[in-house]
Amino acid sequence: MTLNELKKITDALQNTPQMPALFVGHGSPMNAIEENSYVLGWRKLGRSLPTPTAILSISAHWLTKGTKVHITKHPKTIHDFFGFPKELYGITYDCLGSPEFALQTKNILTPNTVTEDSTWGMDHGTWVVLRHMFPDAHIPVFQMSIAVERSHEAHYALGKLLAPLRKKGVLIMGSGNLVHNLGHIAWGPEVAPFDWATSFDAAAEKLLVDGNHPALINYEKIGVEAKLAIPTPDHYLPLLYVLGLQGRIESVSFPVIGIAHGSISMRAVKIG
Ligand code: ZN
Repeated sequence: MTLNELKKITDALQNTPQMPALFVGHGSPMNAIEENSYVLGWRKLGRSLPTPTAILSISAHWLTKGTKVHITKHPKTIHDFFGFPKELYGITYDCLGSPEFALQTKNILTPNTVTEDSTWGMDHGTWVVLRHMFPDAHIPVFQMSIAVERSHEAHYALGKLLAPLRKKGVLIMGSGNLVHNLGHIAWGPEVAPFDWATSFDAAAEKLLVDGNHPALINYEKIGVEAKLAIPTPDHYLPLLYVLGLQGRIESVSFPVIGIAHGSISMRAVKIG
């Protein structure tokens, strides 16, 4: 490659607008087959984005010791839920993987140790949402795991390091739920949200609008509701990766909002 060619590539990259980064609240696996306002919101969101070169999903449902990146050409659809209608277990999301971007992700995160994995695939935190956002499954998808031994700050810091992928058109998507308490879940079509769920969701919204990342990283101190809103951190942690990606002047918006089953915030957060 000549110096001139290299300069052209560098210029093109510098002029490439960054791909937005997303946190999505995936909620119940039933969202794969139901029609509701969340699903409609995901479809609209998918149409509103520039076409990604690949999708990196960081899902609440892939928790591991040490960070792993899934690196196969044909990621399988994982049905990691029990007791749901048969129909759900027959659904596959037949996209390609992206070993190339998975390797790049591993390299970008050096000196953090990232292990290559070929056993995972796409859990429901990924495919239930992507099935609606990108129904054609024409974009390669790969997952990165959440290392359970890392501190909240360390998840946020790892997210920051992923920023160069956005310049390459990779859509980085954290998938969890901002408020997630299965112990208080209430089934039914029109269940009113619990006060603590509404209150925590609103407090988090304000902190997101204000760009108050330290408060969001130390979410336990947001208020007395935090214990009920986030009894375990798994569904909240993907948000920290996405927050780490927010540039100083980048906007934040909420393409999907609402609280499902009384205790699950479906809020999506879009950076950029
Ligand atoms: Zn979940």
